[in-house]
Amino acid sequence: MKALLKLFVFLFAISAFGQNTYLHCGKLVDTKSGKVLSEKTIIVSGNKIIEVVDGYLKPESGNVIDLKSKTVMPGLIDMHVHIESETNPKKYLQAYTLNDADVAYNSLHYAEVTLMNGFTTVRDLGGSGVNVSLRNAINQGKVKGPRIFTAEKALATTGGHADPTNGAKKSLIGNPGPKEGVVNGVEDAKKAVRQRYKNGADLIKITATGGVLSVAKSGQNPQFTIEEIKAICETAKDYGFHVAAHAHGDEGMQRAIIGGVKTIEHGTLMSTETMELMKKHDVYLVPTITAGKFVSDKAKIKGYYPEIIVPKALDIGPKIQDMFARAYKNGVGIAFGTDAAVFFHGDNGKEFGYMVEAGMPAMETLQSATITNAMILKMEDELGQIKGGFIADIIAVNDDPIKNISTMENVVFVMKEGKVYKQ
Ligand SMILES: [Zn+2]
Repeated sequence: MKALLKLFVFLFAISAFGQNTYLHCGKLVDTKSGKVLSEKTIIVSGNKIIEVVDGYLKPESGNVIDLKSKTVMPGLIDMHVHIESETNPKKYLQAYTLNDADVAYNSLHYAEVTLMNGFTTVRDLGGSGVNVSLRNAINQGKVKGPRIFTAEKALATTGGHADPTNGAKKSLIGNPGPKEGVVNGVEDAKKAVRQRYKNGADLIKITATGGVLSVAKSGQNPQFTIEEIKAICETAKDYGFHVAAHAHGDEGMQRAIIGGVKTIEHGTLMSTETMELMKKHDVYLVPTITAGKFVSDKAKIKGYYPEIIVPKALDIGPKIQDMFARAYKNGVGIAFGTDAAVFFHGDNGKEFGYMVEAGMPAMETLQSATITNAMILKMEDELGQIKGGFIADIIAVNDDPIKNISTMENVVFVMKEGKVYKQ
């Protein structure tokens, strides 16, 4: 009976979709059940998964990919990257030297590196707007990169973490407003969201507190009023956008949660009271442990960051992993995300090891980077699982990540929308 069913699936796949691809998987991570299955064949046609069947199905025609010695899983989703830029000691000067075209060419490289390391989908939490053009070019198949959901330009208040003219001399500062993503008051807040819609954003990012890498003194003070945050979240809802909030300090975090955001980025100084608030409002923590560790390491190198940033990086960076451990134990929902750009693109997979080190079981880290993130992006019926009808985003690693999580830093096979990018 089982053999007959297999034959039927096979014949159906052939007749309906022409040339298929058959992936023979030694091990297969079922993110839904949280189990690692053995000896399966994934049948892919076009950009979709047709079916997963037991054993190694050998078709008479079609392309067979041998992953019998690998562990196969859905393409990974990183909820926090900045695909336009990357850390380097000259970065602060580059705001005044790089043209949009330079940023665009650089971003092509970062996008490709991200995809080749198994991240087939990312949420871009803020850049210049080049990220929108990059998303479109990737969607049109013109360049290689992950599927991007972008916030376009992050929103800040004057002098806040994402004010684009922080640290510049007065004659260069001008008066950035909602168009540039700087809001002061409820009307500005609404206009800034509508401007992002017009510019092609998929979601909204706010910088609810000070941050480490902005040229400004506080890394944690609240930077929006609750009325401003509410206006942003309510307007965002009109356009089907969710809102992500950067936050290190507890007060700004609480305002963001009560104001209606969906994710808290970093969450460094989160109190137990705020963890309860996260659960009550169904808000997810995006941990970015890798970024925290990277900035505290680099801050020890003289001249890597401007002087004003060093104490913030040394203070905030090392605290993220401990907070994550407490938040996880407390039952806060975790949405995998790294803040790649603060460290080198392509190193996103390190985050898995840091999460496991802090007490989250390996399978749950994989579920966070697949089904949880797909759900937040409202793509849970298409991404995050290897299952009939889902988009064929499929990756493989050498070892079983449940036994050796560091294998996630070495992705050896990447398929996105049925097309093989790495083998
Ligand atoms: Zn960030």
